[in-house]
Amino acid sequence: MPFREKLPNQMFYLGLVTLEDVLGNNGLKSILNYSGFSHFIDNPPPNNLEKEHTSDDFIRMITGIVNVLGEKGARMILFQAGIRSFEIMLDKFPALFNIEGIEPKERNPERMFEEFKRIYQIIVDALVGMYGDIYKFYECDEGVALEIAPCLWCQGLKTEGPICMTPAGFEFAAAKWILGQEIKVEETHCIAKGDDMCRMVMHRPEV
Ligand SMILES: [Zn+2]
Repeated sequence: MPFREKLPNQMFYLGLVTLEDVLGNNGLKSILNYSGFSHFIDNPPPNNLEKEHTSDDFIRMITGIVNVLGEKGARMILFQAGIRSFEIMLDKFPALFNIEGIEPKERNPERMFEEFKRIYQIIVDALVGMYGDIYKFYECDEGVALEIAPCLWCQGLKTEGPICMTPAGFEFAAAKWILGQEIKVEETHCIAKGDDMCRMVMHRPEV
């Protein structure tokens, strides 16, 4: 298992708060019931950094979302969940991703993408610390790319198209916060559809 065995409770807490925000309380309950986490309905994981739940639990929950909503529906919801999870984390516990106290510097369009890379690298380092050494973050022709392999967001899934929309939405929201504008984020490769890695490209904005 290349993933860390256990994840901070705060990741599960963030996941549940986000899903309730995006799907409503009944939507959250059906996902939890389907994936065998009905005990979380009355007893959600606490908002702390203890590690009581496993990466397998996390994967089971993501798989549940895709199975309950279907691939197409899940793709939109997961992207939205990625955006909201970044916004909620930034507002309530930015220390989880090591960005507490970080303010994107002056918004000079020429320099801002460098600033985005600098801050996103900090987030990637936090992700590696939590999930394991499964990330590569590097410059590419379009801007920057994030590779995930193996991938917690699609482990065990088989889909027609790319399905790791939560990290894509998370990147979209992070870029909007840092750059003050929206950028194009696309998942160019996805293990669930047969590629050997998941790869998100964050496009450099036109200046
Ligand atoms: Zn994936």
